[in-house]
Amino acid sequence: MIPDQNVIPWIGHENDWEELQANTAFFASSRGAPSDRSRVVKTQHEPNRSVGGLFKEPLEIPSVLEGMRPTLHPRLVNGRFGDPAVFVEALHRRNALLFDLGDLAPLSTRDLLRITHVFVSHTHMDHFIGFDRLLRVHVGREKEITIVGPVGIIGAVGHKLQAYTWDLVDRYATDLAFTVIEVLSAEKLDAVRFRLKARFAPEAAELPRWKKGPSIIWPDFQLGIAILEHHGVSLGFAVQEPIHVNIWRNRLDARGLSPGPWLQRLKRAIYADEPGDVPIDLPDGQTATLGDLRDLATVERGQKIAYVTDVADTHGNRTAIYTIAREADLFFVEASFSAADKAQATARAHLTTIAAGEIARAAAVRRVEPFHFSPRYAGEEARMLDEVDAAFRGDR
Ligand SMILES: [Zn+2]
Ligand SMILES: [Zn+2]
Repeated sequence: MIPDQNVIPWIGHENDWEELQANTAFFASSRGAPSDRSRVVKTQHEPNRSVGGLFKEPLEIPSVLEGMRPTLHPRLVNGRFGDPAVFVEALHRRNALLFDLGDLAPLSTRDLLRITHVFVSHTHMDHFIGFDRLLRVHVGREKEITIVGPVGIIGAVGHKLQAYTWDLVDRYATDLAFTVIEVLSAEKLDAVRFRLKARFAPEAAELPRWKKGPSIIWPDFQLGIAILEHHGVSLGFAVQEPIHVNIWRNRLDARGLSPGPWLQRLKRAIYADEPGDVPIDLPDGQTATLGDLRDLATVERGQKIAYVTDVADTHGNRTAIYTIAREADLFFVEASFSAADKAQATARAHLTTIAAGEIARAAAVRRVEPFHFSPRYAGEEARMLDEVDAAFRGDR
């Protein structure tokens, strides 16, 4: 389960934050104060919701998150009509995430080489055919890629890999490894590793830190997973960044404090929400309490991006999606059929535009990006978006 964002509860172990802290730059005082914690919480409920497509360029998702510095920049690889795939770049980080493995031809080799985590909803061909391209560009490179998917994903990846002949692997100096995490239930995960040097024979793998729900916890983000109903299982995902702690140089200057390693200790104390009377050593040898120093920093919640596709419109699915996508900054949701074609949507276990908009509204997301439109609506993108928008705003 993803924790409530109105509090700042998701505190990882200290080590998890080292890289994040290293990435946290000082703000120049001239840039003005970012929103503090209370303002960020407040803005979540302001009526600034929007549906993608109201913007000029629908495929480059603008980062419109007022009150925070967005670090995740997602884009639909094949637009709203093509194979599902959302590529997510992270500011200041070399790695990228990918939701679904539809056709990846539009991604450059450079983009593909940045991918470290792939989240696969299910293995219908339009969501999985891109695996081969991902594989191809990585052979001969030293790389670790983690793939998370539904029941059967280990076998599916294993079979893809075994379809090729790996008799020349000894010629490579580098190794390429896929760790595949299979979501068996809310309480059970399995993991297998496939390495080039081992000719992709399955090997035992360790799971990353995770908890029931399930949620998988990496240093840079947490992945919430919902097990949803399509024809078989389809997984819904939500990537949640940790909080950001920013130390303000002008506030340090105003108090005559110089920056230094002691700020790491201060940040850690804030991340961990330690009590106000905790002592912090200052650079001049003095000590101050955390409570005393707290106003040197501002805290912003991290971004949350949810991704749900290929799901039947059932009560159980809706409830599970509300939970996972709740208050997401961006919500990618399939809207395969128009409102008028509800019967087809039901028969094919997909959502209509109206259902997608209603779900987004109930989940209180800030912005919805509908996709996976059926090709039958080619040329009618505006109408499809209008239908989602109307339901999202509660106009119907
Ligand atoms: Zn599909
Ligand atoms: Zn499907």
